[in-house]
Amino acid sequence: MARKNTRERAIIKTSVISILTNILLVGFKAAVGLAANSIAIVSDAINNLSDALSSAITIIGTKLAGKPADRKHPYGYGRIEHVTSFVVSTIVLYAGITALIESLKKIIEPEAASYDAVTIIILVAAIVVKLGLGIFVKARGREIKSAALVASGVDAFNDAILSTSVLASAVIYMIWGISLEAYVGLVVSAVIIKSGVELIREAIDEMVGTRVESKLARQIKKEIAKEPEVGGAFDLILHDFGPNKYLGSVHIEVPDTMTVAEVDKISRRITAKILKKYGVILHTVGIYSINTEDAEAAKIEREVREMVFSHDDILQMHGFYLDKTEKTISFDIIIDFSAEDQEKTYREICDEVKRRFSDYRVSVTLDVDLSD
Ligand SMILES: [Zn+2]
Repeated sequence: MARKNTRERAIIKTSVISILTNILLVGFKAAVGLAANSIAIVSDAINNLSDALSSAITIIGTKLAGKPADRKHPYGYGRIEHVTSFVVSTIVLYAGITALIESLKKIIEPEAASYDAVTIIILVAAIVVKLGLGIFVKARGREIKSAALVASGVDAFNDAILSTSVLASAVIYMIWGISLEAYVGLVVSAVIIKSGVELIREAIDEMVGTRVESKLARQIKKEIAKEPEVGGAFDLILHDFGPNKYLGSVHIEVPDTMTVAEVDKISRRITAKILKKYGVILHTVGIYSINTEDAEAAKIEREVREMVFSHDDILQMHGFYLDKTEKTISFDIIIDFSAEDQEKTYREICDEVKRRFSDYRVSVTLDVDLSD
């Protein structure tokens, strides 16, 4: 709880700094832009205004995401941040398209501007301030894993480039009387549009749900497998409910000699440990019982393992258990997503094992490759 509040405060503080800085820039640029009759500077000011708006939306998103869970939303409101990231990205894209249209207009209908030393000084100062803001906001965003902050930091960089092109065209116009700002603006707006599209794609990915970070998945499985009774951890599922907030389940292999009470104890220990160490809530620890003290079962497992791995694209086989009294063999396999025909490989494996061990009832589960 304390961690979440610190993060929320950090996002809000960063966003407020960003809003105030941008409003300051908007004021200065609008004033010199109007005085110089430069559409380039005025639209640059409008662009900064969109940044202030983005930051305001980021604050609203963080506030909403911090709302406690309720009956209708038992998972909390963390995913609201994915939506606000999407909205901020859309604003970046909109600003890019606006800049593109403005530049095209100026190419078709050029207009004379009157820059002076004050214009140049203010533009230079604005670029420096904007670059500094971009570095600051992006670094904070990465630090506290806020996609929305990173997005607004990236946007600040793009704006500094846009302002630099405006400055360059003003200087060139003052020295040589050549008006380039419309063309420079065209290139820069294309850069902003590209960045907006990328940010939207990222936000959509987050909403769709992506593979859990490889490092986190491996660490959690390794941590669980450290338990002396656990043969291995598999099928780790982690759903994210906002940044840094995971809810999931895992399967573990334990000896078939353990009692329910012992298994219960180990499952509670794992849940508590993973929550404490990674802040991840494992609401289910599923059990695979593993043959012990049975040489024949071990021999059959080796043989089945060989049969399974003679196929291409097999990533994993786990949860093997042979029940002698019930005459059943069960195990899980994971086939790579890149396999040509997962279903076909799965059926072949089932048939082969059934043919080889015909006096057993064979049940093979095809697991999804959910995490590394
Ligand atoms: Zn499994």
